[in-house]
Amino acid sequence: MKILVINAGSSSLKYQLIDMEDESVIAKGNCERIGVDGLITHKVNGYELKQEASFPTHAEAFEKLVEVLLNGEHAVIKSIKEISAVGHRIVQGAEIFTESVIITPEVIEKIEGIAELAPLHNPAHVLAMRACQKVFDKSVPQVCVFDTAFHATMPKKAYMFGVPYEYYEKYSIRKYGFHGTSHRFVSHELASLLNKDISELKIITCHLGNGCSIAAVDKGKVVDTSMGFTPLDGLIMGTRSGAVDPSVLTFIIEKENLSAKQLSDLLNKKSGYLGISGISSDHRDLCAAADNGNERAKIAIDMQIYQIQRYIGAYTAAMDGLDAIVFTGGIGENSPFLREAVCKGLKYFGVEIDKEKNVVRGKTENLTAKGAKTQVWAIATNEELLIARDTLQLVSKTK
Ligand code: AMP
Repeated sequence: MKILVINAGSSSLKYQLIDMEDESVIAKGNCERIGVDGLITHKVNGYELKQEASFPTHAEAFEKLVEVLLNGEHAVIKSIKEISAVGHRIVQGAEIFTESVIITPEVIEKIEGIAELAPLHNPAHVLAMRACQKVFDKSVPQVCVFDTAFHATMPKKAYMFGVPYEYYEKYSIRKYGFHGTSHRFVSHELASLLNKDISELKIITCHLGNGCSIAAVDKGKVVDTSMGFTPLDGLIMGTRSGAVDPSVLTFIIEKENLSAKQLSDLLNKKSGYLGISGISSDHRDLCAAADNGNERAKIAIDMQIYQIQRYIGAYTAAMDGLDAIVFTGGIGENSPFLREAVCKGLKYFGVEIDKEKNVVRGKTENLTAKGAKTQVWAIATNEELLIARDTLQLVSKTK
C-alpha cells in the first residue's frame, strides 16, 4: 500500500510517497512559491528534479506533484490508483481533534472554524485538502494528523494561563503545544528501542530545530510542553523569542509605537538566535561565530542551553522522576556540542553521556554513559512516517 503524506504551508506543499510494506520513502518533494510563480523539487533515489511551474493556487501544485509521480524519467507510479490514501499534517486541532481522523466535509469545516488559532497554517491545510479532493477520486480516503493532538492529555493546571478565565471560554486561550507528531514518534521509538512498554517510562523529549519545544511524556501521556497558545512560547529558537515577561511586550509596544502585527513579526521573525546574535538564526552559524569569539552568538547559545536545562529540571519535577531524555530535530540530532553542554548540567538527575557515542549526527543512538541512571538518546524524528502510519491504521479500520 502506498500512502501520500502532505505538509501544506501557505505558499508551499511538501510531499512524501511512502510504501507501507517496508515504510520506505519512494519519492519526496516540495512545491514552492504557490500564489507567486511556482517551483517543484522532486527527489527519487538520490535524483533531483527542479522545475519551474505555474502554481496560482494549491490545486495546480497538487496536479503538478501527481504529474511528476506519474510521468517522466523518474516517475514512481503507473496510475494514480496506486495511491491508496493521503495523510495531511494539520498544525492546530484545538480541543476538537485529540486524535487523527478521516476527512469528511464536517472535519474540514471544523478545521476552518479554528483557523483563528493558527492563521498561517490551518487555512493553507484546508486549501490543500480541497485541492487533493479535486485530484483524487472520492474513494481515496484522506486523513488529518494534528500537531496538537499528542498534547491533548495535559491537565488543566498545565494548559491554563493566569489570565481571566473568560478568555479561555470566549476565545479558547490556553496552551495547546506543537510538534506533537515528533514528540509522539520519538517517545514511542524510544520505548521500542528500550524494549519497554511506554507506560513504564518517564521521558523528556527535546525537539530542537528552527522551532524548539520540549515535552514531558509520563507513561505515554504528555503532562506538559513548552510551546503554548502558539508555537512562539517556551524556548528561545532560530527567530522566535520563546517566553518573555509579558510586561516587556507592552513596554516595547509603547516605546516603539508598534501595532499587534509589528510586535508579532518582531517576536516571530526577528528575535531568538537572530535577534540576540544579530548574525543568523542557524545553529551552525552561531557555533562558528562563537568559536571565533563573537560574544552575542555565545550568549544566544548559552541562553538556549540554560533554558533547555531549566525545562528538563521542571519537567522532572512535573513527572516526579526521569528515565530518559531524547534529543531530536535538526539541532538535537546533529549537534554533539549542544547535547553535551545540556547534559553537563544535569548530573544531579543521573544524566551522563558517553562522549564517543555523542559524536553521532542525524542518526538514532544511545548516548548514555556506562552506569548512568538516566538514559540519553539522539533519535531521528520522522513525522511523515507517523502520519502515514496513522493514515494506514484509520483506513484499515474502515475497510
Ligand atoms: P530543523 O528546523 O529541524 O530543520 O533544524 C534546523 C536547525 O538544525 C538549524 O539551526 C541548523 O543549524 C541545525 N543543524 C542542521 N544540521 C546541523 C549539523 N550538522 N550540525 C549542527 N546543527 C545542525
